[in-house]
Amino acid sequence: MVKKEDVLIVGAGPCGLSAAIELQNIGYNPLIIERGNIVHSLFKYPTHQQFFSSSDKLAIGGIPFYSTERKPKRNEALVYYREVVKEKDLRIKAFEEVLTVRTERSGEFIVETKRKTGEQLTYLAKHIVIATGYYDSPNFMNIPGENLPHVYHYFHEAHTFFNQKVVVIGGKNSAVDAALELEKAGAEVTVVYRGEDYSQSIKPWILPEFDGLVKKNVIKMHFNTLVCEILPNKVVVEKNGEREHVDADFVFAMTGYHPDHSFIEGMGVKIDRNSGRPTFDKQTMETNIENIYIAGVIAAGNNANEIFIENGREHGKLIAHSIGSK
Ligand SMILES: Cc1cc2nc3c(=O)[nH]c(=O)nc-3n(C[C@H](O)[C@H](O)[C@H](O)COP(=O)(O)OP(=O)(O)OC[C@H]3O[C@@H](n4cnc5c(N)ncnc54)[C@H](O)[C@@H]3O)c2cc1C
Repeated sequence: MVKKEDVLIVGAGPCGLSAAIELQNIGYNPLIIERGNIVHSLFKYPTHQQFFSSSDKLAIGGIPFYSTERKPKRNEALVYYREVVKEKDLRIKAFEEVLTVRTERSGEFIVETKRKTGEQLTYLAKHIVIATGYYDSPNFMNIPGENLPHVYHYFHEAHTFFNQKVVVIGGKNSAVDAALELEKAGAEVTVVYRGEDYSQSIKPWILPEFDGLVKKNVIKMHFNTLVCEILPNKVVVEKNGEREHVDADFVFAMTGYHPDHSFIEGMGVKIDRNSGRPTFDKQTMETNIENIYIAGVIAAGNNANEIFIENGREHGKLIAHSIGSK
């Protein structure tokens, strides 16, 4: 049986939730479909991650976010967003993945989903909001050995790596954060980065500690270095045209993440090849397909540093205004 919806939101990240609340405020009761559970990307952060934003900047729907310190920890945010969902009584179908969105002749959308039980469901929706983020798809280097079991694209906790030789690939926040935590837990850390100096995007309050450890040779830092291959206990790198082997019991490839372009392209939404940015109206967040909207970091294309929770949470208001005024 096809279920009918006025607004169907894909993704229960902070920006999808915020959009749902804004739509509630104007009388809609949108359905959110989420392939994990709510704020699944935040759940996948490093366990002890502290936000760079203060809690007021992460709050949605006018519900205050109180945290122990000015900048909350991941776990406090998980509690906060759970409370928001309860307080606002949002309609969420967790562990259900949206597979495709097709436009009907009527201009409405057929949405095909699959639950974790394998059951397939079909919805008919008048409006779609895509808030699928970017954190599910790591940027692969496409080098030999990248799929070996000791190579990770997400960092959670450091304890397992005590007394182990760990190579961290990358030079931005996630690489620097992981390297610091690994070093604290007693890992022997080498960071390999293709850039010639520290990235401008590194949080300024993190860099002095990291650079201090590099200067003392506690963390070994290789700039201008490319990774060519990962072997079971070594990483083959190239620096100044010369190949070198770096010992590695474990490897963290912190090479960033990107939005799943094929998902939205499948709906007919156009993507700029260079920027990875979907085509949309900045005033309304409506894409080139009438009644398909985007919310959150997916609007940033490949530059995930441009939109985050702080500003992506505002997209819901624009979307609600546009849908409400049609
Ligand atoms: C370590 C780390 C620290 C960060 N710190 C901050 C910070 O301090 N301040 C800040 O503002 N931002 C921060 N960010 C960025 C922030 O996490 C993202 O900008 C934010 O999560 C974007 O929200 P979103 O709702 O657009 O997407 P997401 O939070 O990524 O949510 C997308 C959701 O869509 C779901 N989904 C995807 N595809 C489908 C599908 N086909 N069907 C159903 N569901 C689907 C996913 O499971 C996910 O739950 C940080 C990011 C990282 C990695």
